Amino acid sequence: CIMLCAMFFTCEENKTKTSQNTKEDQFISELLSKMTLEEKIGQTNLRGTSSRTKMLPAALKDAVRKGEIGAFLNVMNLDYVDELQRIAVEESPNGIPLIFSRDVIHGFKTIFPIPLGMAASWDAEVAKKSSEIAAYEASAVGIRWTFAPMLDISRDSRWGRIAESPGEDPYLASVLGKAYVEGFQGEDLSDSTKMAACAKHFIGYGAGIGGRDYNTVNMSEPLLRNVYLPPFEAALNAGAATVMTSFNEVNGIPASGNEFLLKQVLREELGFDGFVVSDWDSTKEMIAHGFAKNNKHAAELSAVAGMDMEMTSTSYEKHLKELINEGKVPVAELDAFVKNILRIKYRLGLFKNPYRNKDHTGNFYAENHLNEAKKAAIKSTVLLKNNNAILPLNENKKVAIIGPLADAPHEQLGTWTFDGEKEHTVTPVDVFKEKNSSFIFEKGLTHSRDKTKKGFKSAIQAAKQADVILFFGGEEAILSGEAHSRANIDLPGVQEELVNELSKLDKPLVLVIMAGRPISISNILEKTDAVLMAWHPGTMGGPALHDIIYGVAEPEGRLPVSWPKTAGQLPYFYNHKNTGRPASEDQFVGIDDIPIQAWQSSLGNDSHYLDAGFTPQFPFGYGLSYSKFEYENLSVSKDTINFNEDLTVKITITNTGDRPSKDIVQLYIQDVVGSITRPVKELKRFKHVYLKPGESEEVSFTISSEDLKFVNHKLVNAAEAGDFNIWIGQHALSGLKGSFYLKQ
Ligand code: BGC
Repeated sequence: CIMLCAMFFTCEENKTKTSQNTKEDQFISELLSKMTLEEKIGQTNLRGTSSRTKMLPAALKDAVRKGEIGAFLNVMNLDYVDELQRIAVEESPNGIPLIFSRDVIHGFKTIFPIPLGMAASWDAEVAKKSSEIAAYEASAVGIRWTFAPMLDISRDSRWGRIAESPGEDPYLASVLGKAYVEGFQGEDLSDSTKMAACAKHFIGYGAGIGGRDYNTVNMSEPLLRNVYLPPFEAALNAGAATVMTSFNEVNGIPASGNEFLLKQVLREELGFDGFVVSDWDSTKEMIAHGFAKNNKHAAELSAVAGMDMEMTSTSYEKHLKELINEGKVPVAELDAFVKNILRIKYRLGLFKNPYRNKDHTGNFYAENHLNEAKKAAIKSTVLLKNNNAILPLNENKKVAIIGPLADAPHEQLGTWTFDGEKEHTVTPVDVFKEKNSSFIFEKGLTHSRDKTKKGFKSAIQAAKQADVILFFGGEEAILSGEAHSRANIDLPGVQEELVNELSKLDKPLVLVIMAGRPISISNILEKTDAVLMAWHPGTMGGPALHDIIYGVAEPEGRLPVSWPKTAGQLPYFYNHKNTGRPASEDQFVGIDDIPIQAWQSSLGNDSHYLDAGFTPQFPFGYGLSYSKFEYENLSVSKDTINFNEDLTVKITITNTGDRPSKDIVQLYIQDVVGSITRPVKELKRFKHVYLKPGESEEVSFTISSEDLKFVNHKLVNAAEAGDFNIWIGQHALSGLKGSFYLKQ
């Protein structure tokens, strides 16, 4: 009966789905049949307007009235939204509503930590909540489509957009990608407080040469499918309504004209039924790439490849009609684009409710929004070093606050914050002013790139009067993000010199970093007593850091990227392949308190830099807590499993410290021998475990052959029989090790 019932419900569910789809399809087909060629082309047109004047430009109104525009992006004067929509709905030939889109990347008004920081939370719930709040706030002004989440795997901290990325690991990025989409879109996209998500940039954007933005991507298909594709797959499975192409070429073919990627992978294999939008001018950029002869050719290439909507460049607008008349682009192709676009407009409920709901104010900066932003900042802050348990600080200690990021409300918001107002940002200094009677603040440097040492003297003077020095350093917001790559990833300006000077005072020195990427601190690490990585923590960075510094909260984050010692080690990622050289027992000369153990099955002895070794400063997954955890009794349920069998792996973890705390228990595997070589480790599961002092918990994970699959050189996606290693530990270079055999 249970089985039959289950079958019945599945059938009923499918029936409902099919009837919904039929209604949707019918609506779209009928509408399409009424549209002229010009209007169809209009739907593929995504237009920007940077005008901030009070009066809506007449040309824009006219274009909407004629049905020449399908959607708007980043409208700078948000007062235009209602009027443009009114014209589209009431005056354009078929009354098709516009979609308003924006880069709502890590919050609209209430700004959450930058995405790389959010990734450090390793927390799907926190990610989901952040995008739910972003959608809630942005939808209040009529924005129903966001250009997020960015799901580009990033293995090179020089790349400015690593700040916007989910980090270097496909599994963690997939967990987060799904969560973001669920948060933005909710269960019902037609809910007027939700936004359509956009999985971007399809694909390989993070793999540009040398971390330089927009750069060439050459990668094997197995690498593309095993590492770069999974986060997109997860976002699409979660129902992501749209996908954005990337600027880069992939193996010689720019993504915006790449039929293989857009038609075969996205539509046929992944079954995507939303619409694909190009990135800013990326269709036109195919000319500079040396792939399209001119604008018309660019339009043809994008159209034939299956790109539905063109962002900002006007190749479709200008040439699609001609290309169709010449038979170079079948009209059926354009019809398919329009259907994909109308489908998402329909799902957003725009045909029924084109306007924003005036009762929905968005509650900008509401208390619960700020609380969630603070929680996210706490969960994303990573404690990298804490000698002699210097943190948390004792309330009675007199503190000197130094550094360019201690009171920099705009900078702590990070990249992509059009709408977050710095007046609402709470900086660390704001909180100290409110809560601590005993502190002195001397910036020492006016901004992160300041090269003058004018402020050194007063900063040192202030530090002399204190018991503890807190140095808030890092990067201004503008030093990461799009087109903001760096060749050196150290602390800009003369920050290192100031830290050096401060360290000579022989007082406990805590370095708090706010930055859009891991920062190379190998020159000053030994001079500090504690290091906290706060990324750009957003609106509530100050309160979050104050709580962490005084132990009201634990620093809960773990690194979502390997932290290099120096930019010269980049690209760096834990899930690399072995070389042919024998594995090293221990090449790592680290600082004493960092528990990086000799790494079995690592890179060979010879594949390292003489002056930087092969281990990172801090590995992927790393982060200390204010307590200590011990891992013991790893057990693997079976020595051998069949393809259809599950494996249970258990470990006992104990909080051996004296504070209630959390650890993120991480499970990694290694496929020892493959038909193509396999990474030395791959994250497959993780769990957040909260324990009181002295408390133990047995943590259990289940793995199946699904988790062991990979795409090989013949493009077969399958698990292969053979030996597997398995580790459970606190980061990618630690863990207790077990093994099992997968039987044919
Ligand atoms: C970026 C996209 C962004 C778009 C619209 C482009 O330059 O690459 O990520 O969504 O601009 O602002």
